[in-house]
Amino acid sequence: MSIKVCKFGGTSMADGSTIQKVANIVKSDKDRRYVVVSAPGKRFSNDVKVTDMLYECARAAADTGNCAAPFSKIRQRFENIVAELGLKMDIGGVLDETEKRICEEKSADFAASRGEYLSGRIMAELLDVPFVDAQDVIRFNDEGTFDAEESYALVARALADKPYAVVAGFYGAYKDGKVKTFSRGGSDISGAVVARAVLADLYENWTDVSGFLACDPRIVERPQGIKVLSYKELRELSYMGANVLHSESIFPVRGANIPINIRNTFRAEDEGTMIVPLSKYRYTGNIVTGIAGKKNFTVIHIEKSMMNSEIGFTRKILSILEENNISFEHMPSGIDTMSLVIDSNVLQLGMLDRLLTEIEQTVNPDHVRVYNNIALIATVGHGMSSSIGTSGRLFKALSDANINVRMIDQGSSELNIIVGVADEDCNRAIKAIYNEFFGEKAKA
Ligand code: ADP
Ligand code: ASP
Ligand code: MG
Repeated sequence: MSIKVCKFGGTSMADGSTIQKVANIVKSDKDRRYVVVSAPGKRFSNDVKVTDMLYECARAAADTGNCAAPFSKIRQRFENIVAELGLKMDIGGVLDETEKRICEEKSADFAASRGEYLSGRIMAELLDVPFVDAQDVIRFNDEGTFDAEESYALVARALADKPYAVVAGFYGAYKDGKVKTFSRGGSDISGAVVARAVLADLYENWTDVSGFLACDPRIVERPQGIKVLSYKELRELSYMGANVLHSESIFPVRGANIPINIRNTFRAEDEGTMIVPLSKYRYTGNIVTGIAGKKNFTVIHIEKSMMNSEIGFTRKILSILEENNISFEHMPSGIDTMSLVIDSNVLQLGMLDRLLTEIEQTVNPDHVRVYNNIALIATVGHGMSSSIGTSGRLFKALSDANINVRMIDQGSSELNIIVGVADEDCNRAIKAIYNEFFGEKAKA
């Protein structure tokens, strides 16, 4: 008997009828042994996710010591779910206790974690299997980083005597028991951790689309589906904004070569996307596998003649970033130029000016220019390295769409080409690249 770990996202857990679909999917395959769940997400487009409502409760608890008003909506959602599913559990009692603890703990992480805790308890009741509280098995170390080895050991121990179980997604705890969450969308990581801990044969990630698509379906209508994706392609695409899967969920499974299958809870018959190690990857014939984009970067462009022959130039620049505790995303360079691409969110008030002053003082550049509100777009695919003229086609598509390219970075692995454009051109650029490689002309 093989082991499948299945993670179900927020839309799959949104209400009683979707949760019943989840239960049917789980029960239809006895290998689906460990189920990891998200908190209830949106039921319709302008609905509010339970996680967002819980952050609201945490704010109210911190400000006034009371979160009864925002909690009442959460109470209603869970009571409806339990009633729709016809479960006998004392959800009222669990909710009373949850509200009380949110007020006592005054921690945003604790409050946010309760969405997954509650939906996990409900799913365990519905499937009639044990519930495993992630607080006991997912560990963060004192610096707040995820402790992978300790977590794998704790999860494996907790599940050793349980052939079937439900584990709450998204959160874990420090050694002292204080609850901490992953970043948003983090139940994908929890699922990957459970898969790794039990050395699963497959990690199924069930969501609301039939797999990874060639680009964001909110940008291009009905983009082509991707049948097979390598771990490397996944990492590039998810990091650059294809948030169908959290970009960090790859690490636990990659170490044990566990494939990921992205599936659609609402079209369970669709095969979805398989994400596999390179050794199992077969070239699909597509030059480009997918395109993803992310907005809000700042580019610091530094020019200095003979920069390349100045020993220690790059080190000095990187030391400035390090001393100010700033990480950078990319560093494309030419003979006399270098650009630092930094996520604008990490540049707190005054930090950009400080970096510019230190760069001036330390390396005495000829020119320094700053570009704000830059979007990065990654065009990714193993097929690109063996196909002549890919970048020519990409840049022609962008220029035909009248899009000004501010920066170019072609990864040395030839797995991706990254271009920087103005934030407001981001979606148009993705559409132009998509049409070039997947549109009618590309098929002809
Ligand atoms: P879940 O709640 O199941 O974790 P998410 O909302 O986190 O689901 O992820 C699924 C969503 O990701 C899709 O509904 C889609 O809008 C979005 N998405 C963005 N880029 C892509 C892509 N390349 N392929 C598929 N979905 C994508
Ligand atoms: N519920 C959390 C969020 O909304 C985690 C997740 O769904 O993966 O971000
Ligand atoms: Mg998600």
